[in-house]
Amino acid sequence: MKYFITAAIPYVNAKPHIGHALEFVQGDVIARYHRILGHDTLYLCGADENALKIVQAAEKAGMEVLPFCDANANLFQSLMKKLDVQLDIFERASSESHHISSKKLWELCEKNGDIYKKAYQGLYCVGCEAFYTQEELNENGECFEHPGKKLDVVTEENYFFRLSRYKNQILKLIESDGVHVVSEIRKNEMIGFLNGDVQDISISRSRERARNWGVEVPKDPSQMMYVWFDALNVYQSGVGFGTDEKQYNTWWPADAHLIGKGILRFHAVYWIAMLLSAGLSLPKEIFVHGYITIGGQKMSKTLGNVIDPLDLIQTFDIDPLRYYFLREMSSIDDADFTIERMSEVYQAHLANELGNLVSRLAKLCESLPLQIFEVPTSFTKQVAQYIVQFALKNGIDHIWDRIVLINKTLTDTKPWEKDEKEKITLLAPLVQELIQVGYDLQPFLPNTAEKIMRRFAGSRITASEPLFPKRTS
Ligand SMILES: [Zn+2]
Repeated sequence: MKYFITAAIPYVNAKPHIGHALEFVQGDVIARYHRILGHDTLYLCGADENALKIVQAAEKAGMEVLPFCDANANLFQSLMKKLDVQLDIFERASSESHHISSKKLWELCEKNGDIYKKAYQGLYCVGCEAFYTQEELNENGECFEHPGKKLDVVTEENYFFRLSRYKNQILKLIESDGVHVVSEIRKNEMIGFLNGDVQDISISRSRERARNWGVEVPKDPSQMMYVWFDALNVYQSGVGFGTDEKQYNTWWPADAHLIGKGILRFHAVYWIAMLLSAGLSLPKEIFVHGYITIGGQKMSKTLGNVIDPLDLIQTFDIDPLRYYFLREMSSIDDADFTIERMSEVYQAHLANELGNLVSRLAKLCESLPLQIFEVPTSFTKQVAQYIVQFALKNGIDHIWDRIVLINKTLTDTKPWEKDEKEKITLLAPLVQELIQVGYDLQPFLPNTAEKIMRRFAGSRITASEPLFPKRTS
């Protein structure tokens, strides 16, 4: 069995923030879970580089576009490594393979009669790289993603994609979970959109407006592809669409696209329509997460509250940060981050609940003639079900409830007051359960999980240094 999951490809116009880190970690949990089950697993991400706002950011930084993208793309890849995210493919939209692949996608849609040229005037948000209709804007006529920023009125002759043709087909697919959108709220949002007036979309812009950067339209060098048309195709170009058919046929379609709520329409409607038009297979699931707020406020450069995930890893280490993302934050709705809460959680949940339990239990077992415990061979059923449903928080909640229960049983039964035989009777099932906790934690907190299993399974139990050392800062 194969499992192919993608994370949304970030714009590489700036360095990564904790929102990116959250998504990379969520995808990693799901990918690791499938790897542990022995599935052929592929986790793909990449860089969205063909946007006007990247050209603008490079200009502002006084750099050529490509080296500017190189530098930022490296930061994203290095963040993933530092988060222990096991990524298999990082496909860049500036790569030759991606350009070839995107031209092929265009040609297939064109061959099917879904691409035509017409003059167009519209309100364009540079931040989103998208045209909006008046109804899609807030009461000040601004886009919801970029309030406070005036939209440009842009007129030009562009290529259009016949999105309207696929409206009913996509509506049926989403209603019937043929393309399964998680959560229900997001699914209904798309059903609402598709029940409205769905118009054809512009998929190219003049070479001048694109500042000569991006993927050229096949047979028309005066036009460049609209960034979303080629960006979505990174999911395919990364597995060889148009360049390595064998690899492509092995992996495509994606089993899951993991995305933030702001780009749902592009994935659940535009992308599906493009694939239908090109006669290609459709992704099976789209898992949508919310945004991170910082102390209740939207994260933004203007507010100066953007948090660098590398600083957090430096201060708290990898697993504590992963823990915060997965347990303290909703897997599907907006969720808040504060350093204060991060410190609290480190102390209360990690150092006290789990760390102390591991130390206490190891200490109690150290001198006892206990059996050698074996490593489990499967996940707890409920945890597995939660992961498959993308209910990552429920999964780790379930594990933590059991940690709390082991602690409680230990405190209630007081094995340290008992004779050796009774001690063993009381402690053995607790050790067994803690080892299963370690096994279940593997996709979530890989380092911690390994330490727990190594300490209690496969050989004699020995006490050693705490899992989560006391923090001085
Ligand atoms: Zn916008």
